[in-house]
Amino acid sequence: SAALTGRTALVTGGSRGIGAATVLRLAREGADVALTYVNGKEAAEDVVAAVAALGRRAVALRADSADAHEAAGAVERAATALGGGLDVLVNNAGLGLLGPLESLTLADVDRLLAVNVRGVFLASQAAAARMTAGGRIITVGSCMTQRVPGPGGTLYATSKSALIGLTKALARELGPRGITANIVHPGPIDTDMNPADGPYADGQAAMTALGRFGTADEVASTVAYLATATYVTGAEFAVDGGHAA
Ligand code: NDP
Repeated sequence: SAALTGRTALVTGGSRGIGAATVLRLAREGADVALTYVNGKEAAEDVVAAVAALGRRAVALRADSADAHEAAGAVERAATALGGGLDVLVNNAGLGLLGPLESLTLADVDRLLAVNVRGVFLASQAAAARMTAGGRIITVGSCMTQRVPGPGGTLYATSKSALIGLTKALARELGPRGITANIVHPGPIDTDMNPADGPYADGQAAMTALGRFGTADEVASTVAYLATATYVTGAEFAVDGGHAA
């Protein structure tokens, strides 16, 4: 049987982009999957239908990671909907807010840190409380934590770099219980957040060693690998076409 048969997973921000591709990868490996979204109800339902077509169970939960109670509560809701346990948490939901330092408002700072950092912390905390040996926490960071290629990234790089510390500390905290925590750093990936035909796309592609954008599925395959890996924890994985090379 497939590597994740009988396992349950929650992917935050699973209605589009890297999250949606991850939901499908995990389902193809045999997992039943819950996903969160905020606005994309129809897109979320399309992902649920695609999972059902693979013969796995999926459930879409509206849960805003910017809201502390919803961010933590999604874990409980996912576990309940999928039969009581949770084996894999993928912290994928994130905002990509770039801009000159002087243009970033206090509201920007609060919102970005709420979604990209606080929500990830709270979901990981809630998942750790539920997980048993074999549990997997996989977080989506960014290539901007390894190399900031130009101006405009102060807030975003701050938020994503915090997740490296979280991942390493979770690995230490949860290792004795047989639960792993790892982080994946995507490079430029063709999604709604960062379309491969957007105004800054050519420059981003040129900064990679491979000279091109990646696909959501190219990130999802590494996330799926980490969901099954047994002796990998506290590690950072660049899936960035060589952006950091
Ligand atoms: P998209 O913007 O294409 O998709 C974002 C997904 O997250 C959607 O499903 C969206 O749901 C959901 N989402 C957004 N805000 C929230 C929230 N507050 N609570 C819950 N869900 C939310 O993003 P990508 O797929 O490009 O990015 C996924 C992750 O990868 C992010 O963490 C991003 O920072 C990171 N990343 C992306 C890179 C890229 O080049 N694309 C590069 C490096 C990192 P809805 O449909 O409801 O809006």
